[in-house]
Amino acid sequence: MIHYLDHAATTPVPKAVADAVYEVLTQQYGNPGSQYPMGREAHALVERCRGELAAALGCRAEEFVFTSCGTESDNCALRLAAWQGRHAGRHIITTAVEHNAVLEPCRQLEQEGYEVTYLKPGRDGCVTAEQVEGALREDTVLVSMMLVNNETGCVFPVGETAKLLKRRGSKALLHTDAVQGFLKIPFTAASLGADLISVSGHKLGAPKGVGGLYIGPRVRAQRPLLAGGGQENGRRSGTEATAQLAGFAKAVELRREHLADTLLHLSELRDYALSRLLSIEGVVRVGEGTAPHILSISLEGYPSANVVEDLGKQGICISAGSACHRGRASHVYEAMDLPKKVRAGVLRVSFGPETTREDIDALALALERHRSERFPML
Ligand code: PLP
Repeated sequence: MIHYLDHAATTPVPKAVADAVYEVLTQQYGNPGSQYPMGREAHALVERCRGELAAALGCRAEEFVFTSCGTESDNCALRLAAWQGRHAGRHIITTAVEHNAVLEPCRQLEQEGYEVTYLKPGRDGCVTAEQVEGALREDTVLVSMMLVNNETGCVFPVGETAKLLKRRGSKALLHTDAVQGFLKIPFTAASLGADLISVSGHKLGAPKGVGGLYIGPRVRAQRPLLAGGGQENGRRSGTEATAQLAGFAKAVELRREHLADTLLHLSELRDYALSRLLSIEGVVRVGEGTAPHILSISLEGYPSANVVEDLGKQGICISAGSACHRGRASHVYEAMDLPKKVRAGVLRVSFGPETTREDIDALALALERHRSERFPML
């Protein structure tokens, strides 16, 4: 029996979503660029999917561009903002705990002459709008701050940062990586006030390989994210991945339909997991994340890679941090300056609509067993 507690890494695809994908693959497989009816139907399907995503983000359909994943959305958002501001300045503000999909393009931009300020979080894992204000300069052209940290579940003050930039009359564009926040933290493009918002499908029940980027009215750069045949209204070329788009739209529709119940279910699970897991000797909480679906803990002194491996053999899927690290030390926990013992044993548990209390009980039992049968390394 599998106890899947790694929904921040990726999520299972519900049957209704898989059915929507299958139907497009086998019945509505036309190229949206083709002139005959099947092509026009495929085009109409793409626009219906865009409408669903735009409704979920509270934006206009023209402001939403489909991409292949959250990573592409982040990369493109940073490139677009840097391009727009290239004559105004070369300073970027971000946080030290962004996903690598933001940090790596920042490093590329540094090599191209940009200066990047990486805001450090406190031990709670959070970064404040005051820190952004302290780093803001005349030549700041972009602030990139994630909405929910993928390892700690900390919710960052994106809305407050947008207001601050406005109050200070800054020309800087605001990008938020909302890959972990979309349909987990209620927001709209307007309530966040960000100019660029990245989302990804596979974190909420869509297949892997589809994402999107909200591009607000302050982004005027006419530079396509991908140059080519002019799809996505000239903003991102490439034949539309119609089946994935249909899956993304269906997954979003399902999540929106049950949003209030799902969010309640997730936060109840997180609270249950907190009390159940913290009652195990040696388990401590890491950071003070408030997102309903992510909980970061540490089995102090017990190397997390061993715990994840051991639990994995018992069918319990959790993570030692972000799935992208594959055993490498996480820059997030490093930036938080956690004590060595805590950092060594960091574990991320993340929930989805399908998660039950039994999954958490199985995790607690397995952690207790691991603790009693193994020796700490630190
Ligand atoms: N940003 C955050 C915060 C994430 O958690 C992830 C995936 O783990 C990404 C970006 C990358 O998204 P994708 O896997 O769709 O490329």
